[in-house]
Amino acid sequence: MNHCQRCGSPIPEGGLKYQVAVQVRSLFDGAIPESEHDPDGQKLERLLKEVAGYSEEELNRQVYEDDIFIMCPECKEAFMEDIYAHLTTKSSPEFGRAHLIQ
Ligand SMILES: [Zn+2]
Repeated sequence: MNHCQRCGSPIPEGGLKYQVAVQVRSLFDGAIPESEHDPDGQKLERLLKEVAGYSEEELNRQVYEDDIFIMCPECKEAFMEDIYAHLTTKSSPEFGRAHLIQ
């Protein structure tokens, strides 16, 4: 038997369930902010030291993250509502998604 990975409820065989895939990618627009200029290499040196302290997995997570969750219908709805509600400050749970989908 599957369990909802958000609330832990058992999902019976043949019961309605959802697969929710989360894909996060780092975006680079080709621009380096003016403040990042580093003529004497001090920032680069600091960055290299910082990076050396991370594991390979931590570094990969800064570039991309993929997760797949099995959720019950209630949790799928709540999960989506939560994401859409944060996309605009005007959104409220009852009005956020419908507002954005239009
Ligand atoms: Zn659930």
